[in-house]
Formats: sequence, C-alpha cells, structure tokens
Amino acid sequence: MKKPFERPLIKKIRAGMPSKFGMSVQTDPVTHIENTSVADIVKQYGSPVFVISEKSIRETFREAKRAFETRYPKVQFAWSYKTNYLDSVCRIFHQEGSWAEVVSGFEYEKAVKNNVPGSQIIFNGPGKSDEEIITAIENDSFIHIDHFDELYTIISLTKRIGKKAKVAIRVNMDTGIYPMWDRFGFNYENGEAWDAINRIMMDGNLELVGLHTHIGTYILSTDAYRIAMSKLADLAYRTDKKHNKAVKYIDIGGGFASKNTLKGAYYQGRDVVPGFDEYAEAITSALVNSEINPSKLPMLILETGRALIDEAGYLIGTVLANKRLADGRRSTITDTGVNMLFTSFWYDHELHPAKPTSDHLEETTIYGPLCMNIDVVRNAIAFPLLKKGDNFVIKRVGAYNMTQWMQFITYRPKIVLIDQKNKLHVIRESENLQTVAGLENLPDHLL
Ligand SMILES: *Cc1c(COP(=O)(O)O)cnc(C)c1O
Repeated sequence: MKKPFERPLIKKIRAGMPSKFGMSVQTDPVTHIENTSVADIVKQYGSPVFVISEKSIRETFREAKRAFETRYPKVQFAWSYKTNYLDSVCRIFHQEGSWAEVVSGFEYEKAVKNNVPGSQIIFNGPGKSDEEIITAIENDSFIHIDHFDELYTIISLTKRIGKKAKVAIRVNMDTGIYPMWDRFGFNYENGEAWDAINRIMMDGNLELVGLHTHIGTYILSTDAYRIAMSKLADLAYRTDKKHNKAVKYIDIGGGFASKNTLKGAYYQGRDVVPGFDEYAEAITSALVNSEINPSKLPMLILETGRALIDEAGYLIGTVLANKRLADGRRSTITDTGVNMLFTSFWYDHELHPAKPTSDHLEETTIYGPLCMNIDVVRNAIAFPLLKKGDNFVIKRVGAYNMTQWMQFITYRPKIVLIDQKNKLHVIRESENLQTVAGLENLPDHLL
C-alpha cells in the first residue's frame, strides 16, 4: 500500500536559540515556591493565583541596602508605592526601614494608613491637587516639585495656611539614555533646574531640602547613574556656594533593572543585568568624588521599585487547552491573561511547568483566556507539552502587575503571601460580581 502524501513542514526555529552563555534552560519544573507545593496552593486558593514570598522581599532589600551602606554613610530607601502598593508588601518594606515614595493622593493616603509618618513620605508626580499639597505641607512631607506652575502654587498655598513647605525639585538631564525622560521635572542642561533652585531659595516659605531625579526604568547602564549623580551633586555644590545652603539629601530615584528579560533581547536578563553592587558603586563614587565638602555630604535616597520586588512575585496558572494554529504551530490557552500580567507586553516572562515533564520542547505560543487578539503571554517559547489542567508558574511578576492589572473580562485573582515561617495568608481576595459591579447605579427606568 502506498502511503498518503504528507506535505513537508519547514519551520524556522526561533525559540530557545543559544546565546554566548549557552542554551537558556527555562523549562525546569517549579514544583514549590519556598517550601510550599504549587499543587497545594492551587488546591487551596484556586487558579490563577499570585504568590508573594516575604523571605525573598526581605533578602533582596537587605542585599540592596548592604550594597549602598557599605559604600556610603547615609543611605535611605523609600518604597515606590506604584510598583506594588499592596499594604502587606508596603509594610514589609517599612519594617525593613523604608520610607514611602508616592505619586498621587491615593498613594499618599495608603502610606498614611500604613502608619508611615508624614516626615517619611516623599510626594512625587506631575499632578498634585491643592488639597493634596496642603496635606503634605501640614504633615511635613517632602514635596518634589515637577514644574513651575506647581512651584508657584506651593508658594501661594504656604502663604494661605501659614506654614513652611519642605521641597525638593525633580531634575531631568541627559544621561546618555534615550529617549530622555524630560517630561518630568526641570531640565539641567538648559538652566531650568538652576532657575527653580534660585526661585525657591528666594522664597521664605519654601525650604529646599533635597534634589531628585528618576532617569527612567529598567536602566542597564550604571554609567547613566554616575552621570545623573554628578549633575545633581553639581547643583547641590552650586546651591551651597551661592546661597550657603547644603541640601539634606540627594534622591537618585529608581530604575534599576530586575532580572526579567526584555522582549527581543538577545541575552537573558539574569545573565546581564547589573547587580546592586554595580549600581551602588557608580552612584556613590560620583557622589564622594564630587565637589561637595565631605562634612556636608547629603543623605542618599533610593526609590528602587522593580529590582526589589519583581523576584518575589509568582503567578500560578492552569492550562485550559492546546490547539494547532493554521500553520501548524502549537498554541496553549491558559487562565493567566494580560489583564493580570501587564508586564508581558514588555518582558519575555519565564514560564515553568509545575511538575516534571518530558524533555521534548516545541515552539509554542502561550495565550491567556481573553477574547482579544492581544492576549499573548509568550510568543514562541520552547516549551514542553502541558495538558489541560496542568499547572505552570510564571516567575518574576512582583513589580507593576498587581498595580497596573485591569479588571477586564475576568475577575482579578487572589494574592497569597508566604511568610518567613512558610505560613500562607490571603493578602488580597479575588474579585466577585459585588466588588466589580458594586459601584454601578441603575437609573429608575432601567430597574
Ligand atoms: C516609578 C518610580 C520609581 C520606581 O521605579 P523602578 O523603575 O520600578 O525602580 C521611583 N521613583 C519615581 C519618581 C517613580 O515614578
């Protein structure tokens, strides 16, 4: 019998290409998070579910703190609320000694509710309301001014309430990182930052306590930080020289890369991302080698976000189905959509089966459950075949997902914290019809 003709299928292998560090093994099973089995977590809390490791947060924080404190005498971290403002997460950072860094009235309220003293709240952002500014002045918080309109508003508000404001300016500058984030703060190169400093120094109601920048996010170049710090130190030195006023702190912002891999990057993030020691070396050397008199060295503030929390977050999901696309490629449909994994738009997240699988990998596209074409969790990943009902773990999802996620099509899932004694706590419940639709009102004629 002659066999029926089968058309040959020629496939370009795009997934799992080796880099100079060799083949990247991304598919080893992750059966446990800390000491808790993934299967048990799903049995208890359902799927999908976010898991946060308290141990990982504290260890990462201490590593970052050590890197800076061994190189510079006065270091203060301020937790970037927008990166992950779950109260439990914020309180872990506050217990470790972090202040709060907030960029809205909502985040400010959250910091107050987390018992952060007003004098340990840094208020950033381009859109503060008059009421929010007044609260910040009354609580002795540090207001980081973004633009001249805000500067003049604060001047008039301090007159109205008869209390001085503690302010810093946000400065943007050319650090060799493009595109330059020049929409926030006052520019260094064109003299605007210097202009703002002089205007603040002229006003009796404003106290210039610090200088601030946040040069971008996921910055792989430690040299950009060296340049940024040199420019801020130059402003601090000139302010002291002209006005006889030494600023209390220089706040270098956040932006350190986490170990995630950017989409399209040739190297794995975990192989090439600078460590805290390398960032700390660049930043502190620029500061100690500046013109600033050693007896007047300012406190160094860091607003590190993603690099402190990404590693601690996991998303556990379940395979819903497998199917073949029209061209023969394998696709896997899961219950973890981009509505809860916002960072899949810019990261190639690491995905691991939750139990050992066969060694045979095939190029697979991982979809979420949304009825939307954009719902792609991983394009072309070399992945073993998981069957309907199998679990998997997505790594390094602690930063931005639990704040930028959106209620869209499905309910947002539970978040579980594993504490240092391996006890599990639901720190945020999953949504239900009441939490999502509860804010709606029906006009009488539609009842
Ligand atoms: C978002 C933000 C941070 C944290 O940035 P990461 O890139 O997550 O470290 C720090 N400071 C300011 C002003 C921010 O807007």
